[in-house]
Amino acid sequence: MKIPLIDLNITFKEAEEDIRRNFDQIFSTHRYVLGPFQKELEDVISKKIGVKHAVSVSSGTDALLILLMALGIGRDDEVITSDFTFFATAGTVARLGALPVFCDIDKDTLNISPEAVKNLITSRTKAIIPVHIFGQSADMDAIMKIAEENGLYVIEDACQSIYSRYGERYTGSIGHGSAFSFFPSKNLGGLGDAGMVTTSDTELYERIIYLRNHGQTSGYFHTMIGGNFRMDEFQAAGLLAKEKHLEKNNTLRKKNAMHYRGFFEAEGLLEKGLVKVPFERFDHIYHQYVIQAEDRDNLKEYLSENDIGCAVYYPLPLHKQPCFNYLSSASRKYPVTEEACSRALGLPVYPGLEEKAIEHIAGKISEFYKRH
Ligand SMILES: *Cc1c(COP(=O)(O)O)cnc(C)c1O
Repeated sequence: MKIPLIDLNITFKEAEEDIRRNFDQIFSTHRYVLGPFQKELEDVISKKIGVKHAVSVSSGTDALLILLMALGIGRDDEVITSDFTFFATAGTVARLGALPVFCDIDKDTLNISPEAVKNLITSRTKAIIPVHIFGQSADMDAIMKIAEENGLYVIEDACQSIYSRYGERYTGSIGHGSAFSFFPSKNLGGLGDAGMVTTSDTELYERIIYLRNHGQTSGYFHTMIGGNFRMDEFQAAGLLAKEKHLEKNNTLRKKNAMHYRGFFEAEGLLEKGLVKVPFERFDHIYHQYVIQAEDRDNLKEYLSENDIGCAVYYPLPLHKQPCFNYLSSASRKYPVTEEACSRALGLPVYPGLEEKAIEHIAGKISEFYKRH
């Protein structure tokens, strides 16, 4: 049985008719950029997650970048973020001349530990970027409290957590501003690169609208230096069609996670401590289903040999990335992140993955530990 890590055809097929109809509409109007579809997508997402404003942008990375720019974060400002995340969370900070300050994670949720955040605050700290890693919210009440006490901004990196909840609220509606990604493999995946900023701060929203279009406040008149961070209409048209299936697909991912747990339990892998399944502290939408596995590298090779797609998220803590060796974080110790990087393994969890495929994968993992 060959099982890919992700199957984008399933979520394309169910939306295909709508996508093609929307595309035809674009071909009839030739509104390719900043047209009606992106406006509608902003409305759908801002209503759903309960924020005043959403701004469609060119990628999740650009959503983070434009938020940092709009908040005035720049040279020598410090921004605290997770040591265990995708590169863009910290790369955008560094691109503005600000300094990412990496924070160790909670061993259960793999999200930044609020206690660790507290210890990293200095007079130069301007913001905290919690990442809702793999689709589960960080501990937002604790983080907002720390931010409030210290006069800091909170930017949620919600690139992996669209429509996951933190209590009654949705991720992306709690911080001062939030970033979403519609990279094709994300839970709401576009047909190319795209992203979204959300905020309920109207002043911040207005700055973002201008920055998205070169800081142009009226025709060829620029009061700020922005960039081209616009989303194209094909992305918005495709995303609107796919958004209709997002809640259902998030539920399917949760069911898949439940099946994995059941099979691992039945195989005795949890009890023996060979496999640790994701810890659900808050609503988890499983953008990735990442287990912590004993002898991870050999397990990964074994699964690959057996035609089972899997991947390591993430192999190297950010503080150890060569490009960040100029930061003071480079010499700090991050024991929980390092442990996670050495044991993490992402397994297929996409909507449409069949229960018998999950049973097959769990069976192969069990077989691996019996042989080794
Ligand atoms: C995907 C992702 C990003 C970047 O989004 P792009 O759309 O690929 O630019 C940023 N942060 C996290 C945590 C992500 O998973």
